[in-house]
Amino acid sequence: MNLQGKTALVTGSTSGIGLGIARALADQGARLIYNGLASDDEARAVHDDLEARSSQPALHWQADLSKGAVVLESLRGLPPVDILVNNAGIQYTAPIEEFPPDRWEAILAINLSAAFYTTHALLPGMNERGWGRIINLASAHGLVASVQKAAYVAAKHGLLGLTKVVALEQAGRGVTCNAICPGWVLTPLVQQQIDARAAREGISAQQAQHDLLLEKQPSGHFTTVEQLGQWALFLCSPACDNVTGTALPVDGGWTAR
Ligand code: NAD
Repeated sequence: MNLQGKTALVTGSTSGIGLGIARALADQGARLIYNGLASDDEARAVHDDLEARSSQPALHWQADLSKGAVVLESLRGLPPVDILVNNAGIQYTAPIEEFPPDRWEAILAINLSAAFYTTHALLPGMNERGWGRIINLASAHGLVASVQKAAYVAAKHGLLGLTKVVALEQAGRGVTCNAICPGWVLTPLVQQQIDARAAREGISAQQAQHDLLLEKQPSGHFTTVEQLGQWALFLCSPACDNVTGTALPVDGGWTAR
């Protein structure tokens, strides 16, 4: 695939799935605008890596996506974006009656509202150029629920709703909007849940990882960030010109049962 001449913005791309997708897009020649809460050293390493892969200047969009509509101001200063990947996300687990309201607000802001603000701001440019790809990183938790994840499940279900509305509004205009719904992917976000489970149950991290996988993901394997990078590329390819409004599970059978 040749993405030379295209600019991609991937939110939350200093780590995990976002970084995997940013690398896959950069490998095909796209110019990358990356984003995330990273130290200067981490951001510099991501910057150099993406530039080396794409041979294009990378740009660090230093927005904190928990800040709501403030995000709109800094989006206005960015170059035109052809591929928007709404990936940034956080997790918190607790029963709803113990769920801290500030965690609810933060998860809704980062995992859902940020995708509204980026899409709202960047869609007009895609329409002017007659081509665009919007890829929302939802989750198996956009399709089914689990206990102790009220905010995350609500946000991911909401993100699928947003995906469908944008797809309908853009149908036939050269801009597609789809969601990828991963099951377990071994990233810092999931490692935290493995560590918490090991501590709670007094078991090894290895046992906790094994139990976490088998509880939900029948394949018993993690999806890799490289595989999700290939999914993002596929959605940018001509094969997907007429694919829009979909929620694509990449979940080892999680949502099949
Ligand atoms: P991760 O923790 O490795 O990466 C999250 C990224 O989001 C980081 O770059 C982080 O800096 C950024 N981020 C967090 N808060 C931010 C903020 N306020 N402003 C800007 N950036 C912020 O997590 P991940 O596992 O790679 O998750 C990426 C996405 O994939 C999330 O939306 C997550 O819900 C989704 N997802 C992950 C899994 C999984 O198993 N890992 C499964 C399904 C869906």
